[in-house]
Amino acid sequence: MIILKTTIALRAYLEEQQQLSLKIGFIPTMGALHDGHLSLIEAAKAGSDVVVSSIFINPAQFNNTVDFEKYPVTIENDIALLETAGCDVLFLPQVKEMYPNDYDDQRRYDLGFLETVLEGKFRPGHFQGVCMIVDKLLDAVRPSSLFLGQKDYQQCMVIQRLVELRRNDPCSRDTKIVVCPTLREPDGLAMSSRNMRLNEAQRKKANAIFQSLLIADELVKKGSIRIAAINGYRFLEEKGFKVDYFDLADGTSLRSVSDLESIPERVAILVAAFLDDIRLIDNIVIDTRQSVN
Ligand code: AMP
Repeated sequence: MIILKTTIALRAYLEEQQQLSLKIGFIPTMGALHDGHLSLIEAAKAGSDVVVSSIFINPAQFNNTVDFEKYPVTIENDIALLETAGCDVLFLPQVKEMYPNDYDDQRRYDLGFLETVLEGKFRPGHFQGVCMIVDKLLDAVRPSSLFLGQKDYQQCMVIQRLVELRRNDPCSRDTKIVVCPTLREPDGLAMSSRNMRLNEAQRKKANAIFQSLLIADELVKKGSIRIAAINGYRFLEEKGFKVDYFDLADGTSLRSVSDLESIPERVAILVAAFLDDIRLIDNIVIDTRQSVN
């Protein structure tokens, strides 16, 4: 695996590959890699000629300093995992490389409604920060396909929107987004870099997030959609979580089901909750045409 630290070096390398019409698959990450990340590498390998991954803990997307400072860093292990997984290129820039002029004076992205709900509501500025870095990374990599995890459902939608906004720029290459399923631990906890921060007692409790989704899922399937969110929320509160949101939304628009007159075909159940100072998110998506009685 080649490790490159500057955009110039990355462009020079990938230019050659792109002139040979090789398809580049890209997986952006913030490191502290786990099997969820590696499943994206696997998916990229199957559909691309060259697999590029990046590791960059993007300061612009953290709206909470403690979360940023405590974000796990395991770079040596990450490099070994990427090598074994068959990643071809790792882009490993420093903050100055991505933000030579600081990150406060960057452009704003028109994300519309998407930015006003769920993660957007509880983490103001977060998705602007995500767009800032992904925009720069897409300029640097110019991939044919971008591999993302469903674990960050709303982020996938935001990046899809970013790719659409970029279509207005004649220099930008069209990128296909591939959303890959959430990998889970045996007890159902969604794999996440932040899980490394959980102590033993917290780790035991953490699977309640997935259980709460299953509770809501069952209620939706029984046709009791209106109480599903309330029951999921209460379950987590009783387990000692501080819940930011527990909502059922149209899987395509993210409009809350409680604001809609009919039940959408795809319902996303989305949750974010704190276990002490560690914030975990998760979601599942239901096809109501098949599953609701
Ligand atoms: P992160 O390093 O947390 O920014 O995540 C990098 C990419 O990995 C994002 O597209 C995430 O959605 C994806 N990802 C994170 N956790 C998982 C998981 N458990 N299963 C699949 N993909 C994941």
